[in-house]
Amino acid sequence: MNRERRILLFVLDALFPPLCVSCRNRISFRNDKSRVLCQRCLNSVELNKHYFRIPFKMAGRQRVFTLGALSSYSDKVINLIVHALKYDGFYLLAYPLAKLMADYLNFSGLRNIITPESVITPVPLHPSRLKMRGYNQSEIIGEELGKNLEVPALLLLRRKRKTKEQAVILTEEDRRKNVRGCFEVVAGRKNEIAGRQILLIDDVFTSGATMLEAAKVLYQNGAREVIGLTVAKA
Ligand SMILES: [Zn+2]
Repeated sequence: MNRERRILLFVLDALFPPLCVSCRNRISFRNDKSRVLCQRCLNSVELNKHYFRIPFKMAGRQRVFTLGALSSYSDKVINLIVHALKYDGFYLLAYPLAKLMADYLNFSGLRNIITPESVITPVPLHPSRLKMRGYNQSEIIGEELGKNLEVPALLLLRRKRKTKEQAVILTEEDRRKNVRGCFEVVAGRKNEIAGRQILLIDDVFTSGATMLEAAKVLYQNGAREVIGLTVAKA
């Protein structure tokens, strides 16, 4: 950090002391990189030690979808971060989440099955929702995680139609119907999918319908393996 920047951050700290979104204690612009979450709250997140292997059938063929969730939605800090990212515009919270995701991959052993030629991609938002929120939190997490794992992060999928929010739909069958056929491959990206291991990023895994639907499109386009990574499993 150069001298001017240090002085600027010092002044900003003094004038507008930032508060941790979780514990509301003062945090320092200089010490806490995310500037929205303090180190103590970050360290308090309980990381999962496991991941899941979910078998499913596609075109008569048995497939396995691997799913890793870094923590639980019942973790107080995680719950708050996910909510603040989704509804309150705190996009900076995606950065500490990417760090937690990298820690989780090591902690759970998932890191060992990730190959150097993997590619990271987020579950896309519909353009209208993206415009409203201004960012896709899964995309930021994916980009940061990509730097950490030294694998590329690319936008491979897009929403071709708008869906209702999964959280307001009650039955699993209706959730599957809601997202059926809603994704397609971004033009010109097909070559990036065939034969590769793809790390698919989303924030919360509830019924899994959205993520499985996205995974199916990747498999249909020749992905060798899809590993779903989410912040929390509800
Ligand atoms: Zn805190």
